[in-house]
Amino acid sequence: MYFKYEALECPKCTRHSLVQRDENVYACINCDFKKDFARPLIQPAKNSRSSVVELVAMLAGALVLLVLL
Ligand SMILES: [Zn+2]
Repeated sequence: MYFKYEALECPKCTRHSLVQRDENVYACINCDFKKDFARPLIQPAKNSRSSVVELVAMLAGALVLLVLL
């Protein structure tokens, strides 16, 4: 069985049968190896979003202090 597209080498069975199954998921069609690239990419995004929320909260607090003064 041959594939026209380029397949990556599987680290588990060392055969070039690693194909992209989803946007961030690579799976081997020869064995049950599976690699998900989505998890490490989501965590920094969550951290940057929470820091933005903290910044907005700080600015809101500063505005409240200015209004009270
Ligand atoms: Zn494999």
